[in-house]
Amino acid sequence: MRVLSHVCCGPCFTAVHENLSQSGYDLAAYYYNPNIHPVEEYRLRLSHLERFCGRYSVPLIAGDYEVREYFAAVDGHEDKPDRCIRCYTLRLERTAELAAQDDYDAFTTSLLLSPYQYHDELRAVADKLSGEHDIEFLYRDFRPAYRRSIELSKSLDMYRQKYCGCAFSEKER
Ligand code: SF4
Repeated sequence: MRVLSHVCCGPCFTAVHENLSQSGYDLAAYYYNPNIHPVEEYRLRLSHLERFCGRYSVPLIAGDYEVREYFAAVDGHEDKPDRCIRCYTLRLERTAELAAQDDYDAFTTSLLLSPYQYHDELRAVADKLSGEHDIEFLYRDFRPAYRRSIELSKSLDMYRQKYCGCAFSEKER
């Protein structure tokens, strides 16, 4: 089964990749994160993901850095959880569109690993997009593997960021 995984960052993807690969899924990674601020941080996270994907032969697609789309999506909704739900919607909508267009069997996201995300709301967003784009959403609660992602990313000397991604989260940390 071919699965397109939205990837928020390399460290989260380590354990998602391990879990889904062990289950026999044929994974590709999609880095679409116009929420990340500033651009240097966006590039740093991407470069460590590229290294990981190169090591494990995972095809990686880097989306456009559409900062204006991110700010338009959250405009007037800068407080949590509203802001995050809009951020999930933007990122996962692109992922579902690409997965449907390129004939993947399903899409998923490494955001499901983080205990700091609004997991139930994230799942609801993905389920809705699954219906709208006629593409299966592969749901797994990866949160029990969060500690494993820390182990893996440390052992691979990966950059581990200190804030979720957007300018708001950098200020809030
Ligand atoms: S805190 Fe994270 S999920 Fe929420 S809007 Fe910012 S980058 Fe997106």
